[in-house]
Amino acid sequence: MQKLTILGATGSIGVSTLDVVARHPDRFQVYALSGYSRVAELAEQCKKFKPSFAVTADQKSVDQLQQLLRVDSPETKILCGVEGLCQIAIAPEVDMVMAAIVGAAGLLPTLEAARAGKKVLLANKEALVMAGSLFMKAVRESGATLLPIDSEHNAVFQCLPSDYSSDNRCGAQKIVLTASGGPFRASPLEALHSITPEQACAHPNWSMGRKISVDSATMMNKGLELIEACWLFDLSPDQIEVVIHPQSVIHSMVQYVDGSVLAQLGNPDMRTPIAHAMAWPERINSGVANLDIISIARLDFEAPDLERFPCLALAVEAARMGGSAPTVLNAANEVAVDAFLKGDISFLQISEIVAQVLGDTSIVELDTLENVQSSDKLARQSAVSIIQRSH
Ligand code: NAD
Ligand code: MG
Repeated sequence: MQKLTILGATGSIGVSTLDVVARHPDRFQVYALSGYSRVAELAEQCKKFKPSFAVTADQKSVDQLQQLLRVDSPETKILCGVEGLCQIAIAPEVDMVMAAIVGAAGLLPTLEAARAGKKVLLANKEALVMAGSLFMKAVRESGATLLPIDSEHNAVFQCLPSDYSSDNRCGAQKIVLTASGGPFRASPLEALHSITPEQACAHPNWSMGRKISVDSATMMNKGLELIEACWLFDLSPDQIEVVIHPQSVIHSMVQYVDGSVLAQLGNPDMRTPIAHAMAWPERINSGVANLDIISIARLDFEAPDLERFPCLALAVEAARMGGSAPTVLNAANEVAVDAFLKGDISFLQISEIVAQVLGDTSIVELDTLENVQSSDKLARQSAVSIIQRSH
C-alpha cells in the first residue's frame, strides 16, 4: 500500500489523480490533500478519501472546512498555509507526493518532498523552471525518485531506457516536444488583440486549469516545458526541438543516433501519465479509453511560428541564458497571466511584459533558495509596475 499526499488536490491534475486512486484502493491510500480556495470541493474529497490531513489556505478556511467535516470526517486533521503544505509533503508516513499546485506557490512543499527523498510526481513545472538547479541537487542528494507528470516529459521518460543518465545517453540524441498550438494556432494574427480569457482557456484538446490553459494559448507552456526537459533529462536547449502537432496524440518523441525515433501515443487525458508515474515501473488501468488510430486517421506536424508565439522564443532565450533568467521569465509570466485573466491587460501584452521584465532584470547565478526567492520577487515587482504604468 502506497501512501500519497496530493498538493493541489482540488485542481485539474488533483482531481484526475484521485480518479486513478479510486480505481485502485488496494494499491494507494490518501494520506493528505491540499486545496486553496475551493473549500467545499476539498471537503467532499476528504469525505470520500478520509485523509489523515487536509491543508487549506488560511485560518478562515480551516474553520470552514472543520465545520463541513464535523460529521462525516472528524478524524481528518486540518492545517493551513505553507507550513501545513510542507508538513504533509515530508511526513514519514508518506511514500509519494503528487506536486500539482499551480505556479511558484508549489515550490517550497515540492522542494521539501524532494529533500525528504520521497517519490515526487511532478506536475508543478513552474517549481522546476524557477529553481531547477536547487531542485535537481535536492533529488540527487536525498535519492528521491522524480517522475514527470507533464504528458510530454512523461512520454519522453517512457521512450528512454531505464539506464539513461547524463553519463550514459544510450544513443539518445534529441528530444522532440510536441505542442498542440493551442486555440489560436490558425487564427488571423489581427484577431489576437481582442482575445478574452474565456477564449484563451478553451483548449481544443485538453481540459486544464486556467493558468496552464493561457500558457498553452501563448505557447509559454511549451517554453516552460523546454526548460523543464533540460533539467529532467540533463540536456541543453539545443538538444530539444518543439513541433506543432494539432491532434495531441503523440505526446513527445526521442530521436536516437541510429535514425530510430520512439514516440509515446495516447488519448489526451492526464490520467495516463498520472497512472504511469503512480504505478511505475508497473502498469495499471487509468480509466482512459484505448486509442482508436483508425478514427484518428492522420497525424500532422508543423514548425512553430515564433512571430505568432513570442513567449516560446522568450523561454528559449531564458533557457540559453540560464541562471536566474528562467526564474524571472516564470515570475513575469505568472503576474501577466493573472492580470490577463482578471481583464487588466490584453492577451498580446502577456509576451510584451515578459520580454520587458526579462530585458530589464540583471541575471544572477542561483545557488540558494534565498536567491531564487529574491529573483522571483524582483521580477514580480517589475511586472506589476509595468502593468500599473500601462493603465
Ligand atoms: P488548477 O488551477 O486546476 O489547480 C491548481 C491547484 O493548486 C488547486 O488545487 C489550487 O487549490 C491549488 N493552489 C492554487 N494556488 C495556490 C496557492 N497559492 N497555494 C496553495 N495551493 C494553491 O491547475 P492544474 O491545471 O491542475 O495544474 C497544476 C499544475 O500541473 C500546474 O503547474 C500545471 O502547469 C501542471 N500541469 C497541468 C496539466 C493539466 O492537464 N491540467 C498538464 C500538465 C501539467
Ligand atoms: Mg504538457
